[in-house]
Amino acid sequence: MRKRLQSKGTLSAKRMLKHIAGKEKRLMRDVNHTISKEIVKFAVEKGVSVIGLEDLTGIRETTLSNTPKKRRHNHSSWAFRQLQTFIEYKAREAGIITHYVDPSYTSQTCIRCNHISKNNRNRLSFRCEKCGYENNADLIGAMNIEHKTRDYRYILESQGVLVSHPDECLIDIQAPPVREG
Ligand SMILES: [Zn+2]
Repeated sequence: MRKRLQSKGTLSAKRMLKHIAGKEKRLMRDVNHTISKEIVKFAVEKGVSVIGLEDLTGIRETTLSNTPKKRRHNHSSWAFRQLQTFIEYKAREAGIITHYVDPSYTSQTCIRCNHISKNNRNRLSFRCEKCGYENNADLIGAMNIEHKTRDYRYILESQGVLVSHPDECLIDIQAPPVREG
């Protein structure tokens, strides 16, 4: 609909475009509020002290690499960034620290043997070319972000900022890989 209206270029089309954009923004905002609330609720229940998020300001190597640049910007960056902001302030209210990690290679690094390769990843699926470990590529990305966040947590603990507590992997590494097609 947006595309059609854009090509029309009339005043009423422009008005309609504005209307759609506003509607979309409000919808995304609601969705982001719901998701961030769930995430922080989960973190509180699990006794999490630091939430790790992907730093979106750098280069991304994840799921959006096949999306045209323009669309990527319009549809994902502001919405993801907003979600992070919501998570950040809801976490802060709950006394949880938010930490941004460099997402480089997070979906190409094997969580079992640490082998990094582009070949480990094929769209949604991850299969380590060295050790054969298989899982969903986004889940692998999340696990590697968790590892990086854990390193940061150790630093805070060693500085006495946080009380140290034993590790608990919150992501089920036994989850079956998602098959495509
Ligand atoms: Zn491996």
